[in-house]
Amino acid sequence: MNDKIIYMDNNATTRVAPEVLETMLPYFSDLYGNPSSMHTFGGQVGRKVVEAREKIARLLNATPDELVFTSCGTESDSTAILSGLQANPGKRHIVTTRVEHPAVKNLCESLDTLTGHKHRVTQLPVEQDGTLDLERYEKSLTDETAIVSVMWANNETGVIFPIKEMAQIARSRGILFHTDAVQAVGKIPIDLSDVEVDFFSVSGHKLHAAKGIGVLYVRKGTPFYPFLIGGHQEHGRRGGTENVASIIGLGKACELAAKHITKENTTVRALRDKLENGLLEKIPNAILNGHKTERLPNTTNVSFEFVEGEAILLHLDRFNICASSGSACTSGSLEPSHVLRAMGVPFTAAHGSIRFSLSVYNTEDEVDFILEKLPPIIAELREMSPFWKTSHKGRVGGSGCKC
Ligand code: PLP
Repeated sequence: MNDKIIYMDNNATTRVAPEVLETMLPYFSDLYGNPSSMHTFGGQVGRKVVEAREKIARLLNATPDELVFTSCGTESDSTAILSGLQANPGKRHIVTTRVEHPAVKNLCESLDTLTGHKHRVTQLPVEQDGTLDLERYEKSLTDETAIVSVMWANNETGVIFPIKEMAQIARSRGILFHTDAVQAVGKIPIDLSDVEVDFFSVSGHKLHAAKGIGVLYVRKGTPFYPFLIGGHQEHGRRGGTENVASIIGLGKACELAAKHITKENTTVRALRDKLENGLLEKIPNAILNGHKTERLPNTTNVSFEFVEGEAILLHLDRFNICASSGSACTSGSLEPSHVLRAMGVPFTAAHGSIRFSLSVYNTEDEVDFILEKLPPIIAELREMSPFWKTSHKGRVGGSGCKC
């Protein structure tokens, strides 16, 4: 048993960077004033919130007053989409994709109940490698389209969509454009002065800040309707006393992200590639899910045919290796991920998919350890798999789900 945690589940959440934690701590103890207060004690906190906003804006090449603090990526997504619909009361068509995070997918599927109006939602299909067809996207836009919501990078495969081109197309048709960039921020360079999105969602806990803090970028001039109506905070764009410590921590995390972006795209990418190539070479019937290059530098999603992803995770857990599987055991049935299904990944492969998502804190020794431990785990599980036996040894197995 390895006593050290090998954490390769950074698309699920990240560790709070030590520098971020240190920056946050005084705002839980000595500096507890309300940033809106008139007194000096609160005012000094307010100034730190202003500085944090500036740091976040710098990472995105946005202006500070284009940023609205929220509680998470999910709130940013909901705010953007509902605001886009309110800005276009006569239009009830939304364009999105089949591979969005539930924060967008489930919201779009709930709009009729939520608003009391009937909406038409186009969920664009993806290719086998997880990429989008731009021509099909362009054709999906109509005079009835109120807003497009397409993620910048996919959380399961890391596949990156051509957001700059897509936003430009929407803008040329006078349609609002939202991108869920929760997985992109801090991993690839972002320049919002060059990408004409109206709304852009960020989540702190994906880039080494705390859980429970998000940002919604709203382009200057884009009509905006608040999701949380209350006090004057965020210039009336989001009521509720600010999550001061987390905002200040996110400012620090963005400063660190700017410093680490080259490392993400060189060192982290090299580690990811070593892990991915090693797994594909050492393990038979291993398949990469997602485009080889149009991908986040930290993410690899590999299917090991004829085994259950959850069984693999449990075995990895014995070695303190943290990863994710592309299937979730829900109400007794093992549903493969909607992302892999949209990519047409066969049933036998979708069930055995594992996502490793790295960060700047991972090391080559950790990659080597996984490359040593995972191949025998897969071999052992396949020995017990009726599907593997059927396909490789001519024996007939049972129904297969060991949920
Ligand atoms: N969007 C994407 C692409 C995500 O990966 C996640 C989290 O996994 C979210 C939205 C939701 O973010 P949060 O957990 O901050 O609500």
